[in-house]
Amino acid sequence: MSIQDYKGVFVFAEQVDKEITGVSFELIGKAKELAKDLDTQVTAVLIGYEIADLAEQLAQYGADRVILIDDKECEIYRTEPYTHAIYSVIKKYKPEIVLYGATAIGRDLAPRVSARVHTGLTADCTGLEIDKETKNLRMTRPAFGGNIMATIVCADFRPQMATVRPGVMQKIAPNPDVNVVIEKFHPEFKPNDQYVEVVDVIKKVSDKIDIQDANVIVSGGRGMGCPENFKLLRELADALGGEVASSRACVDAGWVPKDIQVGQTGKTVRPNLYIACGISGAIQHLAGMEESDVIIAINKDETAPIFEVADFGIVGDALKIVPLLTEKVKAERA
Ligand code: FAD
Repeated sequence: MSIQDYKGVFVFAEQVDKEITGVSFELIGKAKELAKDLDTQVTAVLIGYEIADLAEQLAQYGADRVILIDDKECEIYRTEPYTHAIYSVIKKYKPEIVLYGATAIGRDLAPRVSARVHTGLTADCTGLEIDKETKNLRMTRPAFGGNIMATIVCADFRPQMATVRPGVMQKIAPNPDVNVVIEKFHPEFKPNDQYVEVVDVIKKVSDKIDIQDANVIVSGGRGMGCPENFKLLRELADALGGEVASSRACVDAGWVPKDIQVGQTGKTVRPNLYIACGISGAIQHLAGMEESDVIIAINKDETAPIFEVADFGIVGDALKIVPLLTEKVKAERA
């Protein structure tokens, strides 16, 4: 069997509690572009228990076919059964490309699968494209602390595999009129594929919205001075119906929790409006927010790099400007 025998772009359609993760739809959107360049089709691989009715959504977002593994063994994510499931899919269908979200599950699963099928994996990609001449997948990701972008190819092994962070690729507009093509698949689990037993699942309850789902983000950096000043950002975010985020400097200083960090080692966000307050605009921060529709930067230093990506810049003290903006927004909305 040669690598030319591998065909099709596959996406691991991750679901948790019978809800498909947003990154899965984003990957299907990207997979469609890649499949067009390769003149092939997009297949979503949906794994879980009693989840068949989710397949329709995958078709609406662009999957030409859904391979469904519906098995009690896959009710809750465990590394071994899921690895066996994807490994069996790869063995049977021989895809050319397999994409995973760089979520907690995707980051656990994809390396396991790559070792089992003996192929490469490029983690945390920010760009994926087909090489026009060789038809290999060009997988681009930041390297050396974000100082260079490395483009990696997996020329000699198949499938070519990548993980992609949520928020980096764009989903296509769903088409409610498509027909879903489902192919059921039974990987036949053996006792060896199940050796971890989940005793209990304890869910963290939070009333906060994930910054990746927010349309408006008010983000603070070291220039906010101290954690107490983040309440100024909260007030502006509340007035705008948005969420508060942060640079890594504030997370490292213990001012704010890690789950609101934007950037290369935090989250990638793409809101309609991103207001950066007292953030210098280091390349690792920009990597997580520069795709925002509109960026407003407030910084004391007019040479701060954040102004290079900003659509609107305000040179001045964020501690004075942010409350003025909040007042203005509240007055406009009253
Ligand atoms: P600073 O760089 O200290 O900037 C503070 C800014 O505030 C300055 O521009 C200053 O002019 C301005 N300022 C000060 N006072 C005021 C005021 N009163 N009003 C207005 N402006 C004021 N960073 C991230 O954010 N996210 C990441 O995911 C991330 N990942 C990284 C990964 C690696 C491998 C490495 C090496 C670094 C990473 N970093 C990341 C860190 C990054 O390089 C920067 O150090 C960090 O983003 C700086 O945060 P900052 O802009 O808040 O602070």
